[in-house]
Amino acid sequence: MVDEFTDLIHWSKDNYESLPWRQNRTLYTTLVSEIMLQQTTVGTVLGKYAGFLKKFEDLDKLANATEIELREAWQGLGYYRRAVNLHKAAKFLHENGFPERGDLLEKIPGIGPYTASAIMAIGMDKPALAVDGNLKRVLSRYFSIATPYENGLDDEIRDLLNNKDFSDVLQNCGSRRINEALMDLGREVCRVKNPLCLMCPLSKSCKSFKNGTAEDFPVRVKEKNKLILLKLARFVTLKSGQVLLYKKRANEWLESQWELPTGILSCEDEKLKQYPRVEDKFEVNTLIKTSITKYKIENYPIFLEAESLKNEVPYFNSREMEFFDLKRLPLVSTATEKVLRKLKIL
Ligand code: SF4
Repeated sequence: MVDEFTDLIHWSKDNYESLPWRQNRTLYTTLVSEIMLQQTTVGTVLGKYAGFLKKFEDLDKLANATEIELREAWQGLGYYRRAVNLHKAAKFLHENGFPERGDLLEKIPGIGPYTASAIMAIGMDKPALAVDGNLKRVLSRYFSIATPYENGLDDEIRDLLNNKDFSDVLQNCGSRRINEALMDLGREVCRVKNPLCLMCPLSKSCKSFKNGTAEDFPVRVKEKNKLILLKLARFVTLKSGQVLLYKKRANEWLESQWELPTGILSCEDEKLKQYPRVEDKFEVNTLIKTSITKYKIENYPIFLEAESLKNEVPYFNSREMEFFDLKRLPLVSTATEKVLRKLKIL
């Protein structure tokens, strides 16, 4: 097994060693790149990474950044929740430094199990597996692991650290190299559909390739839940090139992000409490589609003056609200950005 993984590492080095986050690596650059690369393609991150580091060259600069500066540098990467998390983590790490244990890293605000493992494995080159969709797909195929994706596969993959053969591989090839090479393989070769097994460096020892069952892994048992329809009024209040936003609280969707004031026009889920109910109060027409968790969202923009908003929807009298210059927005939710762009306000 060590031989095939050594071939894999050579393949990865030959093809992807020049990725900028693999040059002059520090724990800080690993933190930045690993958070950027979640849910975003390598191509998109390539266009943003150098500029971001130029602006925030170290933890000190990032920890002291304003939300507006952070959004400017993050714009184009989407999912601002990751920028919120990165900022939180930077503030903590600037004060306290990087702990050298995965369980301690996971306790840091903004750092979840994936980022903690990535810092351990890639930043510190210590035995760990940064288990994302790519690693789950490659390793469940390679070892023919039938544990369902939604129910235990993460743990099963992490448990490979206790597998004698695989820990020999980690020891011989290095944790950083193995993680990076598996990420490259999952992204470029061991694809969800039509994996390119004939050009895969692991094909000689890959169990599911031998059995002709590659696409049966990872096993999925969960039937796709039907999405619930949620119709939202998005109140757009403009004043001299500024837009009115409110800040999401810690116990709400999109924690710490800013959003257009929002109300529920209708929802198939009567228990949903994320926004005030504003049924039947407004005429709506323009429709912009988004989604969050199990909800399929129809957004209906409604233009209102600030006073009218507070009269019509008193809920917003008790919320933290602020007008922001449209050219210098803070970290806004993806849906808010989408609505403002569709309306050609941004
Ligand atoms: Fe994936 Fe095929 Fe390589 Fe196995 S041989 S790891 S299934 S690409």
